[in-house]
Amino acid sequence: MTSPRALVSGAGIAGLTTAFWLARAGWEITVIERFGAFRDGGQNIDIRGAARDVLTRMGLEDAVRALGTTEEGTAVLDGGGRVIARFPVEDPDGPTAELEILRGDLARVILGALPAGVTLRYDDQIEGVRDDGSDVEVTLSSGATERYDLLIVAEGVRSRTRDLVFGPAAGRRELGVTMAYGTIPRAGDDDRWWRWYSAEGGRQITLRPDRTGTTRATLAFTTDRDLTDLPLEQARAELRRTFHDAGWQARRVLDGFAGSGDVYLDRLTQIDMPSWSSGRVCVTGDAAWCVTPLGGGGTSLAMVGGYVLAACLGRAEVGDALRGYEQWMRPLIEDAQKLPPGTPGLFYPRSALGCGPCAWRLVSAASESCAS
Ligand SMILES: Cc1cc2nc3c(=O)[nH]c(=O)nc-3n(C[C@H](O)[C@H](O)[C@H](O)COP(=O)(O)OP(=O)(O)OC[C@H]3O[C@@H](n4cnc5c(N)ncnc54)[C@H](O)[C@@H]3O)c2cc1C
Repeated sequence: MTSPRALVSGAGIAGLTTAFWLARAGWEITVIERFGAFRDGGQNIDIRGAARDVLTRMGLEDAVRALGTTEEGTAVLDGGGRVIARFPVEDPDGPTAELEILRGDLARVILGALPAGVTLRYDDQIEGVRDDGSDVEVTLSSGATERYDLLIVAEGVRSRTRDLVFGPAAGRRELGVTMAYGTIPRAGDDDRWWRWYSAEGGRQITLRPDRTGTTRATLAFTTDRDLTDLPLEQARAELRRTFHDAGWQARRVLDGFAGSGDVYLDRLTQIDMPSWSSGRVCVTGDAAWCVTPLGGGGTSLAMVGGYVLAACLGRAEVGDALRGYEQWMRPLIEDAQKLPPGTPGLFYPRSALGCGPCAWRLVSAASESCAS
């Protein structure tokens, strides 16, 4: 009997995890990635909840621990750099989770663990999809036409193939927050905490340690504009305009970003789809349900999604398996997309009052009531 064949489009955490488990379940897997090489980038992400079990079952927990970012906890600061609140790593799923790693390191660990026989092709992407019910035919930018039993779209929040297949059914919820990530030189007084500072005007600066001797910085701010397509120099100028008077370490981060090669901007957008499959095409990870860093746990959900999808496909025919996948994942996603009341206003307060200790107690209380 021949093995069923799947094409996974996108070699991020969702695509690689799905490929890992589906190959283990006996499927013949091809992964294509739009970029010309493995994507190493990304800042600190965490693996929490059920994703820790998925990681352990993959046999990768020790490898991830060895590459941990060494963060000791999360501290909330006021404008003078004084600590308002501290959350040390005690709870494995606290603000700083037990398993913290750079995104690129996690992707490389999973890539290195892919079972023999998984084919990975860079610099290729889908141009057309034709689903005739018994299999799916894809036309690729390389010019090839290929047939598979299933197409799995794991292309991230701005997925082109998802939009091609599902059209307007893939709803977007813009949260009105843009985040700029970048790596800056480590300063003598940088500690091993994730430091959060909120400035007036819906602006936030965070600094995080890594294990490579640099500091990972984020500038987040409320805006309805989409700045993500700006050329990097223009984006840096926008960041300077927005943060030059934000206080604390704003100037240091702006100067650091001026010399940093990995600055990128993300406009926080939740993806909301009534169904994650249509015939022999299904979506997973951010492409299906992006929860954004405000919801948190996007990488963990990508790993759990890959595991659940493969588990369902390993024991049922495609239609039933995709329905099972949806039933398992839907409650997790609905929970993660439910933001605390007042978000993003509470996380990105516009006035000085909203940046003080009382506001932070309110944010914690709102988050807890939402989680319970
Ligand atoms: C380079 C990079 C850096 C990131 N940095 C951070 C970070 O610092 N902090 C954070 O919280 N999250 C970051 N993320 C997002 C985070 O990885 C995801 O939210 C989460 O892990 C879910 O992953 P995903 O695989 O669903 O989507 P993604 O991580 O977005 O992966 C999607 C993959 O599909 C590829 N792709 C896109 N379109 C196509 C196409 N048409 N055909 C083929 N391939 C395609 C992309 O190049 C990418 O490799 C980053 C993602 C990437 C790709």
